[in-house]
Amino acid sequence: MKVSQKAYIRKIRYAVQLWFLLFCIYIGYRFFQFVAHFETSGQPFVQRPPSVEGFLPIAGFMSLKYFVFTGIIEPIHPAAMILFVAIVVISLFMKKGFCGWICPIGTISQYLWMAGRRLFGRNFIIKKEIDIPLRAIKYLIMALFLILIGIAMTPNMMILFFITDYYKIVDVRTMKFFTEMSRTTLVVLSALVLLGLLYKNFWCRYLCPYGALLGLVSILSPLKIKRNEEHCMHCRKCSENCPSLIDVEKKTIISSPECYGCLTCVSHCPSEGALGVTMRTNRSRIVVKPVFYIISMLIVFYLFIGIGKFTGHWESKLPYGEYKRLLTPQVKDVLKEQ
Ligand code: SF4
Ligand code: SF4
Repeated sequence: MKVSQKAYIRKIRYAVQLWFLLFCIYIGYRFFQFVAHFETSGQPFVQRPPSVEGFLPIAGFMSLKYFVFTGIIEPIHPAAMILFVAIVVISLFMKKGFCGWICPIGTISQYLWMAGRRLFGRNFIIKKEIDIPLRAIKYLIMALFLILIGIAMTPNMMILFFITDYYKIVDVRTMKFFTEMSRTTLVVLSALVLLGLLYKNFWCRYLCPYGALLGLVSILSPLKIKRNEEHCMHCRKCSENCPSLIDVEKKTIISSPECYGCLTCVSHCPSEGALGVTMRTNRSRIVVKPVFYIISMLIVFYLFIGIGKFTGHWESKLPYGEYKRLLTPQVKDVLKEQ
């Protein structure tokens, strides 16, 4: 059997994923040091990394709605909105490429099922009759957020929320969720890790509401994976290796909202011209080089960050004194009780 010449795509993907994962660990550590400065006496001041707001998609969505209605970018967590928009735009044009290439949770999910495959000799597959209703969970959670924030919450309600102490340090609270884990959190996370070892991308496939939203947006993407029947050898390597369990060999165009745009199928295909990224034009679909797909995605991502920085909507405007007020141990205890 011919081996695919496009294995380099996988290598690039693993490198890109590792870069973003390491970067997230680095900014997480910097943020931890930033908080420690206020909570522990004698700790030196460390600049707060705004990118931590990438972990606040709900705040990003809220800020986006607020911006659409008022033209004002909420100044406490502006990077949350910039990153949210960047990620939605990537999904709109380049499938769920964010999930497949950038998201650190997606990368950890992938490492888990790869480790599980080594450990148990294979990954398990949930029966179709259970898989479909399970996949609905992430859409239900997404719908809940869309209704609560997109419909029920008015811009006036948002202003009142933005000025609460809870919102001002929602990033710190998110960090504490992991650094000061409750027993329940520990049990739930352990269960998710175990399920992640057994099943491919368990979290992303069944539970992530962000991924659900990006998947629905990605249906509109002009870029899609396309199989060319003329060149296809029906070896099924694409279907066997798809982390989203899509039966690529049976499809012509992959329009599924579950497709991560990871190009794993393309990288395993041994037949030149049988499987590739294509872009819809007025008359037909043109083939897009995988490298062009990857570079475009990274350019869009960093372009938004650059716009945020250039326009002054990247760094939080919450002053040092406010952090000091909110994170000194006495006040922290009061907030914990709220
Ligand atoms: S169809 Fe291809 S690009 Fe989409 S998730 Fe499966 S392997 Fe990745
Ligand atoms: S498209 Fe899929 S089935 Fe066809 S040759 Fe490529 S890997 Fe094999």
